[in-house]
Amino acid sequence: MQAPNANVPAPTLQKPQYKSYLLNNFRDIPQMSRLSEQQKFDIEVVGSVLPFKANNFVVEQLIDWDNIPNDPIFVLTFPQRDMLLPEHYDEIAALLKQGADKTIIREAANRIRMQLNPHPAGQIDHNVPVLNGERLHGMQHKYRQTVLFFPSQGQTCHAYCTFCFRWPQFVGMSDFKFASREIDLLIAYLREHPEVTDVLFTGGDPMIMSAKNLASYLEPLIQANLPNLRRIRIGTKALGYWPYKFVSDDDTEDLLDLFRKVSGSGLHLALMAHFNHPRELEPEVVREAIRRIRETGAEIRTQSPVLRHINDDPATWARMWNAQVDLGCIPYYMFVARDTGAQHYFSVPLERAWQIFREAYQQVSGLCRTVRGPSMSANPGKVQLLGVSEAKGEKIFTLRFLQGRDPDWVQRPFFAAYDDKATWLDDLKPAFGEEKFFFEEEMEQLFREKKGASTADDFE
Ligand SMILES: *Cc1c(COP(=O)(O)O)cnc(C)c1O
Ligand code: SF4
Repeated sequence: MQAPNANVPAPTLQKPQYKSYLLNNFRDIPQMSRLSEQQKFDIEVVGSVLPFKANNFVVEQLIDWDNIPNDPIFVLTFPQRDMLLPEHYDEIAALLKQGADKTIIREAANRIRMQLNPHPAGQIDHNVPVLNGERLHGMQHKYRQTVLFFPSQGQTCHAYCTFCFRWPQFVGMSDFKFASREIDLLIAYLREHPEVTDVLFTGGDPMIMSAKNLASYLEPLIQANLPNLRRIRIGTKALGYWPYKFVSDDDTEDLLDLFRKVSGSGLHLALMAHFNHPRELEPEVVREAIRRIRETGAEIRTQSPVLRHINDDPATWARMWNAQVDLGCIPYYMFVARDTGAQHYFSVPLERAWQIFREAYQQVSGLCRTVRGPSMSANPGKVQLLGVSEAKGEKIFTLRFLQGRDPDWVQRPFFAAYDDKATWLDDLKPAFGEEKFFFEEEMEQLFREKKGASTADDFE
């Protein structure tokens, strides 16, 4: 072995302190000297409407500052001018230039936000479970086997993704409420619902919590010894945004011990890791974090949407799935970008998403083909585009449910008229001149039965 070169510090495995960058301090980032004043102003304009947060790991180790403004991780975390529609951009830019009052800027921003399909008041009501007549805020139960749980301390992230559909939560305009006696209510609900096998902790990012806070949720769940509960999943971007969480933070050992405890209790622990680009799998500290997590018995499953400007080509996906499998992670979902926020900037036509999936899938071995997609998490369920074909002389999309509000919908192929511009399920019409998709009648009935229901999308 070569002696370490004393002049070159090992940059990735030292123990850095987390430092976040927000609108009020991003200009202090040394690399900002590479941006024009216009680019920095654009960050301020767009960041006044959509959430912005980066951190020292993202800035120092993920972004390639020689590749600005096209670097995928730069686009993933730093607001770009075109993420706002021109009229919205111009309105905020004018106010900032005039030095307008903060409250005036906030009012304008809120008006614009309301036009970005933020799922406002009441619209996320319809998956809220009920126990003894009480609505369980901070939980959702849409698909039979899995309950989503939103721990109140886990509702922010180590950095924000510019494409995130949870953006209203991060700009403080979500009416989403979190439960007070959180974990006890979850356990009581699980006792009443023997069909539930999985609990999915989600956020924000639950891995923003200290080991101690996370333990205050996981330990009671283990101790409850529920006969139906088999798996605990944690949705997280921490491997991409703050891998030190699993390597060198002050409570890392406690966290890994907690993971061991879950696995040791006989429950399957799965981290549902969000990776949007293969670059995120390169730093040595990320690889070390993956090794340490897997060493506790936890599995890591991976998911991401297809995003224009970030990962909209097959080679990128093939590289990402290969790298994940090499590291012992299991590719799980490829999603379609949601119809909210800066969707106009990130979305690709459904047909293109399918082509990307198909071409990437063809390039990888069966061990990578655990992934499913492209999938839309829409109101009726998770809908996968299987492909473009032709029947009865008509060009059509073939789709199927991977998950459905009614489990009976799952795995039934159905058909939509081909549409080269469609980017979301709502854009599609049934093929062969039919009036409705097979599930629509039942959907409407489900929603008539539930007061206050809407047709908004869901949280996962
Ligand atoms: C995706 C999702 C789940 C989990 O579904 P799996 O297919 O089991 O991964 C659970 N609840 C909601 C609301 C979801 O969107
Ligand atoms: S919730 Fe996930 S996708 Fe959204 S900003 Fe946080 S890390 Fe990114």
